[in-house]
Amino acid sequence: MTDLTSLTLADAREGLTQKSFTALELTDAHLAAMEKARVLNAYVLETPEQARAQARAADATIAKGNAGPLAGIPLGVKDLFATTDVRATACSKILGNFIPPYESTVTSQLWRDGAVMLGKLNCDEFAMGSSNETSAFGPVVNPWRREGSDTNLVPGGSSGGSASAVAANLCLGATGTDTGGSIRQPAAFTGIVGIKPTYGRCSRWGIVAFASSLDQAGPFARTVRDTAILMRSMAGHDPKDTTSVDRPVPDYEAAIGKSVKGMKIGIPKEYRLDGMSGEIAKLWAQGADWLKAAGAELVEVSLPYTKYALPAYYVVAPAEASSNLARYDGVRYGARVNGKNIAEMYENTRAAGFGPEVRRRIMIGTYVLSAGYYDAYYLRAQKVRTLIKKDFEDVFAKGIHAILTPATPSAAFGIGEKGQADPIEMYLNDIFTVTVNMAGLPGIAVPAGKDGQGLPLGLQLIGRPFDEETLFSLGEVIEQSAGHFTAKKWWV
Ligand code: GLN
Repeated sequence: MTDLTSLTLADAREGLTQKSFTALELTDAHLAAMEKARVLNAYVLETPEQARAQARAADATIAKGNAGPLAGIPLGVKDLFATTDVRATACSKILGNFIPPYESTVTSQLWRDGAVMLGKLNCDEFAMGSSNETSAFGPVVNPWRREGSDTNLVPGGSSGGSASAVAANLCLGATGTDTGGSIRQPAAFTGIVGIKPTYGRCSRWGIVAFASSLDQAGPFARTVRDTAILMRSMAGHDPKDTTSVDRPVPDYEAAIGKSVKGMKIGIPKEYRLDGMSGEIAKLWAQGADWLKAAGAELVEVSLPYTKYALPAYYVVAPAEASSNLARYDGVRYGARVNGKNIAEMYENTRAAGFGPEVRRRIMIGTYVLSAGYYDAYYLRAQKVRTLIKKDFEDVFAKGIHAILTPATPSAAFGIGEKGQADPIEMYLNDIFTVTVNMAGLPGIAVPAGKDGQGLPLGLQLIGRPFDEETLFSLGEVIEQSAGHFTAKKWWV
């Protein structure tokens, strides 16, 4: 029998419907693979009993002929999502052993449709990071290695566990969240597909908040089609999230294989950074050629405020984080370190519970929101944000259907290699992705090639608001041209 863990989600769905194997067999194959791959540190909690119970229930619905669209599909869940009776930590010590009594809307929709939860996935602490190195559970290892090297590389972040697990066949798909690039950058670093939907498309309810005006949940999978299948279950209106948008969820999978003939694709000249690596420039040109060969028209466009996106993001995101993280005070959740009085207890708890990157963000955020600096930093960053959004609106108003850019400025780097002395070195990873969050737009990362050392590289497509379908159609063209990327298994 073929290795069940190497199937695409769509093929697994087909195999289950044809009764070529059972959901329990599919789940067991994944649980066995997870056990052998613990060195990757992708899962922070494995939930085999729950997985097998869900798989048996899925088998029963398949037998009865009333299976949901994801019946029996084993998935991993970023540990930022609340899961009923299953520990959720945001990979921070401050949540201790927090066991939520409720389920996030996005994950509850996946279970409603029959999916199986294999476990909770590692991520950067409170999703702050680009390498998964800020996690209280330690770094995640990328299944990819440089040719001829056994150096462990980062999978990107913050959804590093999700990306690594999908790339290493430890689940058929996974949930992630993306505040400034945390789905697209790790997808690019691990040779898989990840999409950040339009702000408001997926409910944020039950997801640990980082920067509420930027956070969006989205899927990871090994093919564009598989992400489209997952998106349909994850998206939808939720009255419990006031920023969730009430519009019908399309059948995203129907967009796969649709002709892109006549579509206008913008190539933003401001993304051609000084000192951009030749490999990235080549990949970008190659992607444009593939879309052209499929009948799309390439148009140079301008997004003049791009250069302010990263600095503005690193004001807005920490500001919102400092407010969102005020609730972790040692009273309501998990960890507590006592003190002489309540103020000292708060201080001790927060000093011990938060890691250095989270503390840095809280301090920056508190500073930019403080009375004397609010206008100079926070208000100004919000104005820049409006201009960034307007840049995109102007481009789309000219009839552009989507924008093509690189997903990241480089391939995956080594664990401990970046950002130690200067955090800005790490922040620069998000240079191509944060604009999309600032503007609330959808963005997909699709693997498109390899660098000189054999590591995967991704391209990003940015779409009009709520036009994820065009991204799936275009993304599939790139995927068909570039082929699939599979890491050599060294961990078993
Ligand atoms: N790397 C960015 C940050 O650290 C984005 C993180 C994210 O999208 N969650 O803020």
